[in-house]
Amino acid sequence: MSGDALEVRNPASGAVVGTVAISSADDVIAKAQALRAAQPAWEALGPSGRKKWLLRLQDWVVDHADELADAIQSESAKTRIDARVEVLFTVDQLGYWARNASKFLADQHPAPHSPLMRVKRLTTVYKPYQLVGVITPWNFPLAMGVADMVPALAAGAAVLHKPSEVTPLTPLVLERGWAEIGAPPVFAVVSGSAETGAALIDNTDYVQFTGSSPTGRKIGVACAERMTPYSLELGGKDPAIVLADADLDRAAYGIAYGALVNTGQLCISIERVYVEAPVYDKFVAKLVAHVGELRQGHDDRSNSFDLGPLANQAQLAIVTRHVEEALAAGATALTGGKPSGTGTFFPPTVLIDVDHTMSCITEETFGPTIPVMKVADEAEAIRLANDSIFGLSASVWTGSRSRGRRIAAQLTVGAVNINDSVINLFNPTVPHGGWGKSGTGYRWGGANGLRKYCRQQAITEPSLPTQMKEMLWFPYSPKKFAFMEWAMRAVSARGRRRFGPR
Ligand code: NAD
Repeated sequence: MSGDALEVRNPASGAVVGTVAISSADDVIAKAQALRAAQPAWEALGPSGRKKWLLRLQDWVVDHADELADAIQSESAKTRIDARVEVLFTVDQLGYWARNASKFLADQHPAPHSPLMRVKRLTTVYKPYQLVGVITPWNFPLAMGVADMVPALAAGAAVLHKPSEVTPLTPLVLERGWAEIGAPPVFAVVSGSAETGAALIDNTDYVQFTGSSPTGRKIGVACAERMTPYSLELGGKDPAIVLADADLDRAAYGIAYGALVNTGQLCISIERVYVEAPVYDKFVAKLVAHVGELRQGHDDRSNSFDLGPLANQAQLAIVTRHVEEALAAGATALTGGKPSGTGTFFPPTVLIDVDHTMSCITEETFGPTIPVMKVADEAEAIRLANDSIFGLSASVWTGSRSRGRRIAAQLTVGAVNINDSVINLFNPTVPHGGWGKSGTGYRWGGANGLRKYCRQQAITEPSLPTQMKEMLWFPYSPKKFAFMEWAMRAVSARGRRRFGPR
């Protein structure tokens, strides 16, 4: 390590909780070289050999749950339960990818597409990229890195992780855990901001980025310059649709959770709610009553609060601006409405009388706001829900699951939770990715979650004894070609055209 240090502050108290040396470009190069040197042996272990290490890390995480949660809380000031959820998520991810990697990475033998190709045995082989770079934001200091680092390691790649400069401490605890279990040195962390991230892109073979859409665009450009494959998980402005036939109590509780968990600093946070007119008043009353019960404060290990502060001053400024602009344009805050006056606390804020000219509806807020709009019917709800540059996820609240599925099919988003919020994030067998400005590519999705970290190799081999020459080989023979043409047309074309042109 060399160069300057990052000073890490607790956003609730402002106290300095740690300093971390910034990794220079040379530091990144040195770590990348060391990881590359260790990767072939890691790959050679195969999925079952790697499983052993991933499950040992899982043991370590379970045994160090309090230490990890303490680290998360120290640099984010999130509630104890939000911090413990990150640890549980880590345990879940390690178990799932470790236990399924053998199945997901096994060679595939697809059937030939045509009877004429049955003379071939076909194989698809998955070979990991050597070094995957993972760049993450600050909202989940542990879970965000884990979501991609674990599947990449399970696939057989080495991983270099650059967490956010706002929350660099927790990933270093996990890096220490990897060393303490004695695992092969294929996982390392570098610390710093954009410059360190740029060096990581220059020195890795696949870039998995999670963060804001503007930064994601820059990452995509940088990767394109190097022809490095990448995947971008970006921002969102997720809508919830509440239909008149919904269980309104469940909708109010579920939407409050989906909008306010982690103090609203979640990529798939609910940031807009559209409610059918007949139940609008009733739903808003239930939502306001529930939000009014929530406890916000600086939590410790005692699990005393539901919400913490925002993670930093920049985030507080965005949330404050969105609410102030809405109020100035005629919106009403039924709860909260302005910063609490200390640290980076902003109270949960239910906004009504909002519309699609307001930043609280069009821009990602990433904070504890719940703007609610009345809509005439389902069609208007779908039209407004789709009126966004983002397309990460959505939720639909209805008494009819088939109606929920029908609406889901009309929403231009990467995930839809029917009668629930956030839960897709805890289901790695389905893909997680954004449409529109919410990203390119997907994480997870069962086997695809590991195969994305692999190059795919096609192997063809004869399945029958071979002749000296194939029919198409030189010298060209019109007679042999005519036979081939007849046979291929007969199996591929349709109707009379199978036997020749009209
Ligand atoms: P950000 O884009 O500012 O930073 C993200 C990461 O990129 C940080 O580690 C940062 O240091 C790094 N970075 C910044 N500029 C870079 C550059 N030029 N080259 C390389 N690296 C660079 O995002 P943030 O403010 O830390 O996080 C909040 C954003 O993350 C929100 O938009 C949120 O929606 C998004 N997010 C998305 C998901 C998802 O899965 N879709 C999950 C969590 C958060």
